[in-house]
Amino acid sequence: MNIILLGAPGAGKGTQASKIEEKYKLLHISTGDIFRANIKGGTEIGKLAKSYIDAGKLVPDEVTCDIVKDRLTWNDAKSGYMLDGFPRNLFQAQELDKFAKIDLCLNIDVDESLLMDRICGRRVCACGESYHISTLNGATTCAKCGGELYQRADDNPETVKTRLDTYKSQTAPLIEYYKSQGKLKSVKSGAGSPDEVFVQICAILDR
Ligand code: ADP
Ligand code: ZN
Repeated sequence: MNIILLGAPGAGKGTQASKIEEKYKLLHISTGDIFRANIKGGTEIGKLAKSYIDAGKLVPDEVTCDIVKDRLTWNDAKSGYMLDGFPRNLFQAQELDKFAKIDLCLNIDVDESLLMDRICGRRVCACGESYHISTLNGATTCAKCGGELYQRADDNPETVKTRLDTYKSQTAPLIEYYKSQGKLKSVKSGAGSPDEVFVQICAILDR
């Protein structure tokens, strides 16, 4: 099964992706993680991506589509995958349809008013886990691997505002795109815990 995780920044795509990966053994492909790894490694792609990411803008489509297209040819993607952060606009969605067969688009629907606090209070670990300061009780290391937690450079109010605008104008229209293909399933994420959202997701995936 090949699925797309759709949702605004801060909707909890990454959090749900690790839960799905663990339970359903579905490969997690996050374009954001790929870009951040490239920035850390000082690659050409990383250098190019950094300026866009720091500004809260989308990395150019050609670069992003090529990365995903290539990643999907790896052997580990043959038995199914979950795309997190891709596609992010109509062009990317149309390109994806040319080189992949998508079965389902899972849309995580969150009240806009919750997003700013969720993102600015987010602390992440290099292993991929993320936390919110409200539940860390002052802890500064990852409960899963012991790694040092840090705040992503683009998780600041100024950049988040641009990312939310980008989401609204470019990514949200994909909800209609996948609805018209009959592939859309939505789950609602309120003030509740990630586990409550995961229960809804499991109900969909188990069908
Ligand atoms: P979030 O969902 O919280 O915004 P991501 O890790 O998915 O975080 O993305 C971080 C940044 O990486 C985005 O703001 C954007 O600059 C870049 N990026 C990630 N995925 C894409 C994509 N599909 N197309 C263009 N840029 C992307
Ligand atoms: Zn960790």
